[in-house]
Parts: sequence; C-alpha cells; structure tokens
Amino acid sequence: MSRYADIVLPLAQPAYTFAIGEGVEVCVGDAVAVQFGKNAVYTGVVWRLHDTPPAKGEAKPILKVLYDKPLLSELQMRFWEWIADYYICSIGEVMRVALPSIIKAKARCEAEFEPYKPKREVTVNLVAEVFVGEVREKLERRAPKRYEALCEIEKAGGVLPRYAVPLDSTALKALQTAGLVEMGERDYHLDCEWSRTLLPKLSEAQTKALNEIKKGLTDKRVALLHGVTSSGKTEIYTHLIEERLSRGEDVLFLVPEISLTTQLVERMRALFGESVMVYHSKLTPQQRTKLYTDMLSSESGNFVVGARSALFLPYKKLGLIVVDEEHDSSYKQSEPNPRYNGRDAAIVLAALHNAKVVLGSATPSLESYANTLSGKYAYALLTERYGGVEMPDITISDTVRNVKRNERKLHFNKELIDAIAERLESNEQVILFQNRRGYSPYMECPSCGWSARCPHCNVTLSAHQQRGKMVCHYCGYSETINRYCPNCKTSELKPMGFGTERVEEAVSELFPEARVLRLDGDTATSSSAYNRIIGAFARHEADILVGTQIVSKGLDFANVTLIGILNGDNLLASPDFRAEERAWQLIMQVAGRSGRRDKRGEVIIQTAEPQHSIYSMIGEYERVAAKLLAERKQFRYPPFVRVVKVVVRSSDKERLVDASMQLGQQLRNRFGGRVLGPVAPLIDRVRGEYRVELMLKIEVESSFSRARAILREEIAHLREDKSYRNITIICDVDNM
Ligand code: ADP
Ligand code: ZN
Ligand code: ZN
Repeated sequence: MSRYADIVLPLAQPAYTFAIGEGVEVCVGDAVAVQFGKNAVYTGVVWRLHDTPPAKGEAKPILKVLYDKPLLSELQMRFWEWIADYYICSIGEVMRVALPSIIKAKARCEAEFEPYKPKREVTVNLVAEVFVGEVREKLERRAPKRYEALCEIEKAGGVLPRYAVPLDSTALKALQTAGLVEMGERDYHLDCEWSRTLLPKLSEAQTKALNEIKKGLTDKRVALLHGVTSSGKTEIYTHLIEERLSRGEDVLFLVPEISLTTQLVERMRALFGESVMVYHSKLTPQQRTKLYTDMLSSESGNFVVGARSALFLPYKKLGLIVVDEEHDSSYKQSEPNPRYNGRDAAIVLAALHNAKVVLGSATPSLESYANTLSGKYAYALLTERYGGVEMPDITISDTVRNVKRNERKLHFNKELIDAIAERLESNEQVILFQNRRGYSPYMECPSCGWSARCPHCNVTLSAHQQRGKMVCHYCGYSETINRYCPNCKTSELKPMGFGTERVEEAVSELFPEARVLRLDGDTATSSSAYNRIIGAFARHEADILVGTQIVSKGLDFANVTLIGILNGDNLLASPDFRAEERAWQLIMQVAGRSGRRDKRGEVIIQTAEPQHSIYSMIGEYERVAAKLLAERKQFRYPPFVRVVKVVVRSSDKERLVDASMQLGQQLRNRFGGRVLGPVAPLIDRVRGEYRVELMLKIEVESSFSRARAILREEIAHLREDKSYRNITIICDVDNM
C-alpha cells in the first residue's frame, strides 16, 4: 500500500504530493478532494502512487475520494501527458479542458464536493389511445407544432426525454390537460443498440473514394479525403462509421465548433438513431457531466459528434475518428492553455487506441496535403459534386477600375450589382460575404484624423449601428457612438470601411424590394438564433444572406446561385504566414455554397488587386498548394519547420521589454538563428497588457521534443528572476 500520491490539480502547476491516510483507498485516475493553499479545496486527479515523502514540508492528506471508480483510464492519462508535453503546458491545464465541470474544480470546503450522481430523466409519454381519429386530425389542422411533437414521440415508441420534445412548458401542459401525454421518469441510459440503417447508396466516384480510403487505412493510420464541396464526403464517412459501430467500436466525429449544426446532427441521428451523442462547449455543465459519467459506465460502441473537447471523453475502444473540415483553424484552441490542435491531437489519440483517422476537406491544409505527398497519409480525391452539379464560375471584379469609371455604388462594383439584380429577377438566392461584423471597423474625423480607439487595446473601435455603440472586438469594451469628433469638435465622425451591418444596409438601399438576412456574431448569438436565420434562408424567406465566415461552413442551400465576396483584399492583408492559405481556403469554401443541378453558380470577388496570383488559380488546388508549399519551404515555415510562438505579456512595459530581450538572448544562445524576435505584434496591447512575440523555428529533421525541453528550461530559468513576477510567458506550438 503506497503512502503518497502525486496529484494533478486544475492549475498551471506541476503535480503535488499528498499523503494517503490510514484506511483510505485510492487508485491511479481517481478524482479526489484535497486542500491546496489556505482556504481552497480542489478536485485533483491521482497521477502516481509511491512511498517517497515530499522533499520539503509535510504532505497534506487526501480529504476524500470522489467517485467509486477512476475518472481516467491509463490511456487517457497518456493522452493528457502528450498534450501537456507537446503544447508546453501543465497537465493541470489539460485537466481544465478535459474534465470541464465534471466536478466542482474548487471550493471553500470539503462538504461542497458532492460527487455527481446520474440523474433520472424526465420523459414525456404519449397516451396512444387518445392520439387517434378525430383528436389527431384536429391537432394536425389546428396545432401543427404540437401535432409534430406528438408524432416524434410516437415514432420513438411512445416515450421521449423531455429535452428532446420541441415544446415549451405551456404547450406541454395543455397536452397533459387534454390527456394526450403523461410525464414520466426513467434512469438515463445510453442506448447502444445500433439499428442497421439504410445508408445512402454511393455514386461510382464515391464508392471509388471509399475503397481507396479503406485500402489506404490497412497499412496507414491516417487517410485524407479531399473532396470538393458537396461531393458527398459526409456520405462516405457514414459508411466508415457504420462499419466500426457494427463491430462494437467507438466512433468520434469531430467538427469545428462553429459548424456543429443541427443539420449535421440531424443527419447522423436519422442514420444512426437517437443515441448519437453531441458534445461541445455550449452544453450546460450538467449535460456534459452526464455524458461523461454515462460513457464512463457504458460499454464501447458509442458514437459521439463533437467539437475538439470531445477528444477527452472516456472512450473504451475507439475505432475511428473522423475530422471533418480538417483545415479549419478553429480546431486550434487559441486561448488559454492547452493551445492544442484538435486535428493533431486526434491523430495521437487514435494511435493510443490503435484506431484510424479520416481527415476530410474540400481545401486540405498544406500540412495534411504534404503528408499525402510524402506517403505518410493515404489519399482519396473526389473532384465531382454529387449529382453532377458543376463548380461555380469565378469572376474577379476590379474595384479600382469601377471607381475610375464611377460605377461603384455603396461598396458594390457594377459586376456584382448586375449579377444580384439578375438573380432577384429569376427568383434565385444570393450570399454576400464580408469577413467583418459590425457597421464599420473604425470611425474617423475627416478634419483632424482622430479615430476612436479602445482604452485597453491598441485597436480602433468598430461601430455597431444597431446597438448604437462602438465596440472593441478584442476585449468587448464599448461606448456610445459620438456624432461629433471629441478632438476638434467641428466635424462629424465618418464610418470608415465596412462590416456586415453596413453591407446589409447598402444592399437594402440598392435593392429595396429584396428581403435581406444577416448572419454574423451579432445576429447568431445562440444556436437557436443561428438556426432561425439559416432555416428562414433555406425556406427562401429571404433573397440575400449577408454574413461573415459563418456562411462558409457546411451549409447546403439548393437555390443559391451567386456568391459575392465584397473585399478579397482584407482576407489577404494579414501579416501572418498562413494568410494566403486561409484566404484561398475561405474563398473556395464560400464558393462551394453555390450552384445547382440545373444551373451553374457564380462567384464574384471584388478586389483592388486583381492581378494577385492567388486569383488566377483559385479553383486549382494542386497548383495553389504547390506554389504555397514552395514559398513555405523557401521562407522556412511549416510543414518544413516546426514553429513555436512565444508570447510575453505584461502591463509593465519596461519590465516586459527587459524580460523579452533577455529571453531572446537566452534562446539565441541555445538555438542560434532559429530564434526570431522579440518583436511587437500588430496589436501590441490587449486588455491593458502589452505584448511582445518571439518565434522559434525548428527543422523537422531535428528533435522537436529536445527543443521544447530546452525552451521550458530557459523559460524556467528566466522565471527565477523574481523581478519578472508580473510577466506572463505563453508558448503556442504550431500556432495558427
Ligand atoms: P460534402 O460533405 O462533401 O460537402 P455532402 O455529404 O454534404 O457533401 O453532400 C452534398 C449533398 O449531396 C447533400 O445534400 C447530400 O445529401 C447529397 N448526397 C451526396 N452523396 C449522396 C448519395 N450517395 N446519395 C444521396 N445523396 C447524396
Ligand atoms: Zn476632429
Ligand atoms: Zn479592447
């Protein structure tokens, strides 16, 4: 019986040693309550058992073991360790994303820790004898929503959990009073019976791609499915998924957070039944906890559709991970630690389970594509859209020429205006894309040049007309829009540039008869708001949809034949080495939303720089990828080197400069010319903190783990100087 346990706490700290009291039984992977610091009790995870007392001080005892079985398996622990090691953070920081609110992470006293008990779930039970004949017909006519809900319950065998019934409490009460339903209760249990459903029959091209993937996966861990938008990648996934589930293995279907749409979940539930689990950060702590603990006590054979945090669920035997839209940068957690990439972590997790990975995209990342060229990943290409829909025509519209000819009106070039008019005429739909939300990105005084800036960040405030506010997109600070310049007090402030709100206004002015909807971070504030807008557009209740990035993700609108990209230039303007790749992927993704079986779609890109090489070869994936890869190689960027961005932050500017200079020197002593910086980034102050960046580039041939170890060492070394107490140092590995 070991006397000590090293325990990981949800902190940016190493594991601490605690004593195991007489009669207390703990196992590796157990969740326990321990006192840490003066008045705080934390949940920790037992990482290691041993008999070595701590070097200094006396070990405090473990207060309580929280569950009757370990929360983590060996395999999950190895996975956490990999993330902490690779992304240069503590295991405790991994715990924060991996066991979100499973357990109360921190409390004032021991008594506040109540282990989670699986709740019973409330159900709605149909009284089938009543839901017949005239009653049924009357409902169908007079209360279609209630009628549909009852049909849902009927379809599910007469019982549905309350949360799955799409009715508010008033409607439900009324049905109860009418004797149509009764409320019930049951133990929540995962239904692992996979009904072998009829999967969609694949086309010839799809079948070929599926077979290539299957063949490739016999000796390779990862396959890349490169299929143009609407080629039916999802259909191919379903065949691979079904195969694994029928063998009783777990399957994880990863999607970027933002595209976790009901559309996809509904498609999966229609095929695989109601037990398809959905896991993402928008669930309530209760829901996430329930899912985790239920999975903990279930057998394998679970199917999870989730965002990157679903990687941390307790799979028993993963057979397959699908990473859809693998190029999407929202797979990378940008803040806080662990700054992990869900796609890359998925590949590591799959290796631990000896499972397979299918990456899918219409615009694969250069990293993944390079891995297929080198033969590391299997590869399947689908060049045709399902049902023979053609890829859209791409037109580049020269903004400068339009201005010269006086043909530009309210941010719209003539080509785009004419094309929209044509679509409205023939009752087709249009999507307009602008990658900025709000009315305008800044307000400027035409007389003195003053512009409104955030007091906490080095950025201009964006005007949001509807809210009557100027808002900082970095920290959320806002103030009322000034009409007059507060500096010279003579002129009226002018909105400069344009965001989605202004595009919406302009398009309504140009086409007063058109019905316009807007989809961006301001209108899609919840998933129901998002669904409402998407639904309305899909039902053709609007002719034009104006939106940001959100419109580029996994949407399928049959009647959209024109896409307008209002400003290609600001997509390319970012100083980031990935800017061009990202702009190109985004244009391709947006473009993929257009076209129909009977009519070719069109994409119009407005730009002041039409000669930019990217525009001339947009639709040619291989050519663009070859060009970008050659540039990456020449300038030493991924995938030819590994990069770590080191961000140094502090509100004390002087100490920050000292610390970053010193760190730069230390790192140069170890890494020589592989270190760039310190330099101030474009936005060098956020939330009142200044920031400086260094970049480390390690050749793929050298040992990256050795490099990370040195980096950790040098940061720890710098930290020994107590005068740098208020300096924050963050490592962002494979930064995006
Ligand atoms: P992708 O994921 O490649 O963008 P989807 O899987 O969403 O493409 O397919 C696009 C559209 O074509 C969807 O409406 C889908 O239902 C339909 N589709 C694709 N393949 C098939 C198939 N084999 N049988 C029936 N419909 C299909
Ligand atoms: Zn002024
Ligand atoms: Zn700010």
